[in-house]
This record gives sequence, structure tokens and C-alpha cells, in this order.
Amino acid sequence: MISLTQISKSFGRHQVLNNIDLTVTKGEVVVILGPSGSGKTTLLRCVNYLEKPSDGEISIGDFKVNCKHARKKEIHQLRQKTAMVFQQYNLFRHKTALENVMEGLLIVKKLPKEEARKRSIALLEKVGLGSKLDAYPSQLSGGQQQRVGIARALALEPEVILFDEPTSALDPELVGEVLAVIRKIAKEGITMIVVTHEMGFARDVANHVVFMDGGVIVEEGTPTEVFNHPREERTKQFLKRIT
Ligand code: ADP
Repeated sequence: MISLTQISKSFGRHQVLNNIDLTVTKGEVVVILGPSGSGKTTLLRCVNYLEKPSDGEISIGDFKVNCKHARKKEIHQLRQKTAMVFQQYNLFRHKTALENVMEGLLIVKKLPKEEARKRSIALLEKVGLGSKLDAYPSQLSGGQQQRVGIARALALEPEVILFDEPTSALDPELVGEVLAVIRKIAKEGITMIVVTHEMGFARDVANHVVFMDGGVIVEEGTPTEVFNHPREERTKQFLKRIT
């Protein structure tokens, strides 16, 4: 359903992604693991063109973008099919939780205000924030802010949600509540690509684990394959270091 074909990305002369091929089927939860600097975040950002790939092709369903020749309109369409949950939440500081979730429905989806409001309330209730609708980000904990970020992503009804280290800015005691929400929406069959260092979560929730190093996919498979029977030496070394 989503395929990345021969995706490469360089920053100046530094090649960060080298001919990445990845296929994600509908409803799958893909977890991308790898050492710092291996290109995980860049790959995720390429999927919705927050970074422009230097080369390759991205397709979501029947929609295809050739990265060398992408037009503005195609990039816009691609972005509408994806939503990103950021490490630093990226909420509007001067808007309430409810307004943050409503924003995309009003601006991107062009829903009438009352409908946007109803849907946003339902989504905030879903992530356990029904009592915080009118709170500003500064009045919320990091975990609560990230749950607003997740509700905002869900509101757009994207074909895939991209999570960029969604818990790495959180105090340890707040990580669990955010992972619990991600786990819950994963069970609903929403396609997700998650960059994370949370190995327990990866084992538990992923259907498909991808290990990256040095801008390439070194190994991929089911969690059992990658965690219990890694084939590649680099994967073995990485897992030894972090577990
Ligand atoms: P990871 O997510 O695996 O830690 P990143 O994708 O963040 O890795 O980074 C991969 C490499 O790309 C790193 O060497 C990083 O310094 C470099 N990089 C990332 N973003 C930029 C940028 N905007 N400009 C220049 N180099 C970048």
C-alpha cells in the first residue's frame, strides 16, 4: 500500500539515505530501529516531503510521486495522505488542545466549525483528554501534549501516521501513557511507521521491524525474526548494546 523505491537523500555531499526500498502494507505497524545518525528520521520525513528526497519514488495506494520530478500539487496531495507526530509535539502554543485538533479539520479538510468541533472532542476523549479541551499546551504535561499531537494526526484521517521518536522528549514516567495511546490506535488497524528506541513497545506492537544503519536498511522482518534471530552482524551488535 505504501512503497518507497530507491529513495536517496543527501545533505550537500553527505549521503544520508542510500537507495532505500520499503513496502508497508495497509494496517501494518512498522518500527524503524537503528543507531543515532543512521537516517531513520530523515527517511520518515521523506515520506511526507518534510525532506525532499534526492531521488526515488514514493507511492501511497495508486498515488505515485517521482521525487526528481515532483510537482507542487503532487507534494501537496502526498502530504494530505500522511500525518506526522513529532518528537517535540509542535502544537500551536496560543491555541487550546481543542483548537489544535480542530485546526487541520478547518483548514485542510474544510469542515464546518461545529462538525470539526464534535470530531475533535471525540478524538481528544479517545486519547484520554476529554477533560483538557480548553487547556493550552503550557498547562499540559509532555505526555498530554503528545496525546494532543496524536489526536491532531488522527483527525486528518491519513492513510499513514508517521511517528518521529514520539516519546523521546518525555520524562520516563510519562512514556507509558503515550505508548498506550499509540498501542490502542494500532489495534484499530491504522497504518503507522514509528521511529523509536522503545524496544519493549517495538516487540509488542510492530508487525514489521526495520533495522537501519549508515543510510541503508540492513535487515527487516517480523519482531521475532529481527529481535530473536537477527541475521546480520550489525543488527546483533546493535541489539546487544541496547538490551
Ligand atoms: P537518525 O534519525 O537515525 O538519528 P537522522 O535521519 O536524524 O538520523 O540523521 C542522519 C544523518 O543526516 C546525520 O548524520 C545527520 O547529521 C544528518 N542530517 C539530518 N538532517 C540534516 C540536515 N537538515 N542538514 C544536514 N544534515 C542533516
